[in-house]
Amino acid sequence: MIVAIDGPAGSGKSAIARMVGENTGFTYINSGLFYRALTRKVLDHGHDPADREAVLSVAEHSTLDWKDNAVYLDGRPVSEALLRTDEVDRHVAQVSSFPQLRELVNTALRKSAQKQDSVVEGRDITTVVFPDAEVKIYLDAGIEARAERRYRENTSGLTLEDLKAAIAERDRLDRDKQQGRLRVSEDAVYLDTSDLTIDTVYDTVMETIRLKR
Ligand code: C5P
Repeated sequence: MIVAIDGPAGSGKSAIARMVGENTGFTYINSGLFYRALTRKVLDHGHDPADREAVLSVAEHSTLDWKDNAVYLDGRPVSEALLRTDEVDRHVAQVSSFPQLRELVNTALRKSAQKQDSVVEGRDITTVVFPDAEVKIYLDAGIEARAERRYRENTSGLTLEDLKAAIAERDRLDRDKQQGRLRVSEDAVYLDTSDLTIDTVYDTVMETIRLKR
């Protein structure tokens, strides 16, 4: 079974998907980390993230996999601390905008999830990567709530106001993509989490899964 969860940054997808994975035994796969790993590599190689040819060349010469709760790039696990930085945040929407790169990531995601029951989260999991997923959820929240959540995570050096602007800009790029843009799938359960506790969101998602099982 595939449980697909989409939504913008800070909507609670990762926390919920991780909890669902822990409590169901499903493998939890974070697709954003695949895009972040490629972005890190593009930056480490000194390329401009907007340089299509350079970015695609990096992607074509990379292998991506998911094992033991981590993304593997070129056969090695990449720590989340290296991938959740302000610098990667700033460039990941650009790097992930190239359709050919998205195809490579989608293939790696499908391969990783086909081995066992999985809960996969991202932006286009319900619409493009697993359009036939048995369970589809879209988690949303207002920009204020999402920026505050990120601010409380304490992984960014930005002020709350700057974080809000950075998230709004990433939202804009993610909604405007040529392929894999962030949108609500018609058959997804839509939840606005702005004023909900994580436990309430979790219970609703688990109830949706139970009904489908
Ligand atoms: O989920 P997270 O915020 O870590 O994702 C980082 C970025 O990766 C997103 O802002 C988006 O640009 C890209 N992404 C994507 N498609 C996905 C998951 C993430 O384009 N399925």
